[in-house]
Amino acid sequence: MLASEGYRSGFISIVGRPNVGKSTLLNAFMGRKVAITSPKPQTTRNAIRGVLTGEDWQMIFIDTPGLHKPKTLLGERLNDVVRGTLKEVDAIVFMLDATQPVGTGDQFVAQAVLQAGTPAICVVNKMDIAGPDKLAPQLQSADALGDWHAIIPISAAQGTKVDELQELLVGLLEEGPQFYPDDVVTDQPRDLLLGEIIREKAITLTHQEVPHSIAVAVQEVVEREDGVIEVYATVFVERDSQKGIIIGKGGSMLKEIGTRARQDLEWVLGGHIFLKLQVKVAKDWTRDPKHLQRLGY
Ligand code: GDP
Ligand code: MG
Repeated sequence: MLASEGYRSGFISIVGRPNVGKSTLLNAFMGRKVAITSPKPQTTRNAIRGVLTGEDWQMIFIDTPGLHKPKTLLGERLNDVVRGTLKEVDAIVFMLDATQPVGTGDQFVAQAVLQAGTPAICVVNKMDIAGPDKLAPQLQSADALGDWHAIIPISAAQGTKVDELQELLVGLLEEGPQFYPDDVVTDQPRDLLLGEIIREKAITLTHQEVPHSIAVAVQEVVEREDGVIEVYATVFVERDSQKGIIIGKGGSMLKEIGTRARQDLEWVLGGHIFLKLQVKVAKDWTRDPKHLQRLGY
């Protein structure tokens, strides 16, 4: 660890209802794909870190799962993880969607944030599609939610005002060491990231209404002598019917998932990929602690 006088650093949690744009914001900060975005909520399940290093500061971002009213054991575990994280970090980015009315889901998350006692900035995202008539009242609703360090409208997707938000966050960093070397972007275990990429494709391509019923475990990553990287992964579903959907007619869907995933994997790993996917039914795995543990949750 490098430490020098005047250097500032800190951990930052990005929270908000599913689909507000947490992963998109993280990607905007990092300028490359470290978190997964999806039109369906709850794609990101693990805390993914992005490390952003400036001239004399460093921020380590934690992309959290969406806090929500727990319905399953998995849901409860996720909430516990998020609450624990909120107390430990140095700053919180709480996100609202400018195009959606502030609802009980937002209040639920805001409450958890304010209870943690960590300085929090309220970000009103998607200003690009909100229009001024929607944005102004939304900023007022944000103000009414709690005592924020600041409130700022942005567009994570277009990168609007992301720099200003970054400045605000730099202002919240306290004196501390440079935890990671300049060139480190993420320290998320590689296999989790690969699994999330495959999972994103499976969810998006099959239009699964219950994305949390799909999990992906990466069994093995082997670098061959010819430079090709072999990735062996299993897609877990809860029911036989879902298995059928994932495999598709004559295996066509699984092939498409594999093709799309391989493109992203090649981008992330920077080499040619041989991807071998299999599908397994693990009945009610989202309710079974043993399964959860095996899958790394
Ligand atoms: P998360 O669940 O909070 O991580 O949300 P994501 O980052 O996955 O984003 C959910 C959806 O909202 C995706 O389809 C994004 O492309 C979209 N989105 C995120 N930020 C913006 C934004 O600033 N403007 C617009 N128009 N769409 C956005
Ligand atoms: Mg996300």
